[in-house]
Amino acid sequence: MSSILEVLTAALGTDAVLPPERVADRVNSYWDPSPMRAAALVRPRSTAELSRLLQICHERGQPVVTQGGLTGCVEGATTDTSSVVISLERMTAIEDIDPVGRTATVQAGVVLQRLQEAVREQGLMFPVDLGARGSCTVGGNVATNAGGINVIRYGMMRSRVLGLEAVLADGTVISSMNHMLKNNAGYDLKQLFIGSEGTLGVVTRVVVRLEELPVSRNTAMVALASFGHVTGLLKRLQQSLGGQLSAYEVMWGDYFREVTAPGWHRAPMEREHAYYVVLEAEGANPEADREQFEAVMAQALEEGLVADAVIPQSDTERRALWEIRENFSALYQRKPIFLYDVSLPIREMEQYITTVQGRLTQRWPKSRCDVIGHIGDGNLHLFVHPGCEGEGQHEQSDAEVYAPLEPIGGSISAEHGIGTEKRGKLGISRSADEIALMHLLKRSLDPKGILNPGKVLELG
Ligand code: ZN
Repeated sequence: MSSILEVLTAALGTDAVLPPERVADRVNSYWDPSPMRAAALVRPRSTAELSRLLQICHERGQPVVTQGGLTGCVEGATTDTSSVVISLERMTAIEDIDPVGRTATVQAGVVLQRLQEAVREQGLMFPVDLGARGSCTVGGNVATNAGGINVIRYGMMRSRVLGLEAVLADGTVISSMNHMLKNNAGYDLKQLFIGSEGTLGVVTRVVVRLEELPVSRNTAMVALASFGHVTGLLKRLQQSLGGQLSAYEVMWGDYFREVTAPGWHRAPMEREHAYYVVLEAEGANPEADREQFEAVMAQALEEGLVADAVIPQSDTERRALWEIRENFSALYQRKPIFLYDVSLPIREMEQYITTVQGRLTQRWPKSRCDVIGHIGDGNLHLFVHPGCEGEGQHEQSDAEVYAPLEPIGGSISAEHGIGTEKRGKLGISRSADEIALMHLLKRSLDPKGILNPGKVLELG
């Protein structure tokens, strides 16, 4: 029998199919720069080619791993030497932008930032936004139900996708390219593929919902004395800015001090506060919005709700503030470091973090646990560094982070997904019946288990 490489090359051409030695030029992911391993990497140009590719793989029971921009945080696109890797890097067209219906239709391989820029030229905005915007793809955003920094106002990917096209394991093309806001004709099939991390089908085209481009944007970084002040200010802004608040990103003081240490970001204010927040509001009336924004900030300062505030005077200054929140390379100087993405009620956050930090210090006296989060969405990211060497530290760290999460009904993944990294922990956030139903769906759509095997769910 011919090898999978030979069969795919015969069907799709040498241009589309890269052999293992050419795959090794690529890296595993943004987080793991070791060479990628694969039986072949296939770069289809169209849905029809991808369908043909999956038909062949399905017939042979050949595992496939679909990859986007490789910026995911949970080892959701990892491969081995037996995998056929599917890259949508040649399916990057922005097919249509409808300024009246406010939709964009794109192929799944388009990079998020390119979509954002293309719609901006037409006076529109695609509001899903995250630090990886320059590399991550819309297909990857769909597959992981990406969230990011504007969820508080505009929702996650799940609420931005109106329609999509996906190819099933056996090559069947499901075209569900809905452009309408309302469509209750039976099951909402697109939701099956959103957030399923490439385990139920391969998303090839997407219709997304756009917004009018805001004409005013006001940003500030503030320092706060306690977590009560952080939630107090959030509530104040939600009350007084008339729904304009689009980002409210909190940083625990230790995180801020670490990323503004000498040689890293310049600190725009004193480094000794307990909490810092980058916040942003978007509106339709530049002068009035700025006046209102500044008045709200001035009042918060006067009342002592915020301890200090900086309002950027240029886009460069604004970007510099955001870099403090989005670029945390300083933390990754310490190794190992374990990243978490937990979801929990806002009112539980302060106690939860204190408990986790206490447990970690008890286990590892020199450990660090730096915290940032999209608190309006109930989502925190923790960076745990044990501060010493040792066997099984990742597993031990997981235990300290997740044990206090269970009794408060939190989730082990707010937005990063499960991948292989958190697969063994799915039972913390999902019941046995829920997991059994997930397996049933997986078996129904992918009976031979060829799509991104071992991700999200255990094999078998
Ligand atoms: Zn995040």
